[in-house]
Amino acid sequence: MTDPRETPSLAEHAAFPRDLPPPPFLAAPAAEPIALFLDFDGTLVEIADHPDGVAVPPDLPALIARLSERLEGRFAVVTGRSLDALEALLGPLDVAVAGSHGGEFRPAGSRDVEALAQPLPEEVTARLSAFAEAHGGLLVEPKPFSIAVHYRRHPEALAALLACAEETAAAFALKLKHGKQVIELAMPGSDKGSAVRRFMAMPPFAGATPLFVGDDVTDEDAFAAVSTLSGSGILVGPLRQTHAAWRLGSVAEVHRWLAAIADMNSPKENSPA
Ligand SMILES: [Mg+2]
Repeated sequence: MTDPRETPSLAEHAAFPRDLPPPPFLAAPAAEPIALFLDFDGTLVEIADHPDGVAVPPDLPALIARLSERLEGRFAVVTGRSLDALEALLGPLDVAVAGSHGGEFRPAGSRDVEALAQPLPEEVTARLSAFAEAHGGLLVEPKPFSIAVHYRRHPEALAALLACAEETAAAFALKLKHGKQVIELAMPGSDKGSAVRRFMAMPPFAGATPLFVGDDVTDEDAFAAVSTLSGSGILVGPLRQTHAAWRLGSVAEVHRWLAAIADMNSPKENSPA
């Protein structure tokens, strides 16, 4: 185990990207309190050919509940999926969660979803659906505040898809996100950085040091947001140009790191009776 005394502080470390896993002592009871934000696809579960085809490890819902408890509620899943799609895979979640890249926002224990963005115009959905139909039936995934077109099975359609997406983004003032085998058009305000900043402004997150774990380019908004809040991004997968300061090599490594945090004694357990 790394000796914390020989390791740079979070602020020092965040100043330059390092190809290292984040030490679990970041979340140890003696350290400053952290808030933990986790992406879902490619971070907690392996990416599948079809969004509905991901395999959820049987112990994942319990791990999520333990982490939130261990961090006294300073924990949230922040995903590009809609909250409905996320809960269809994980079951009902009591923890804090943001869906649709932050367009949907829900504190822990609440069933009331707050919208951080305006709904996507229907014409955008119609335009991209027609394009997908005309190009071999690309998979279209409509969400409340964005629309994703997956080209994993039709890589030859990418150039035309990008052109169509850029034109549509300009016409409707949308944000274009190019993720892993997917192009997404999103309403302004629905980005993971906005969701993280919103959580960090409210209890129990306020005042903690935020860590965001994610794999995709859509997570860079959140990596940048946590850096400005004295926290750090943790990239999952191969090293690339990134705002993240740490790296975990795979979904399996993420699970091992999270299990180490969940297994640590809580500050309450450590305090004298
Ligand atoms: Mg991801």
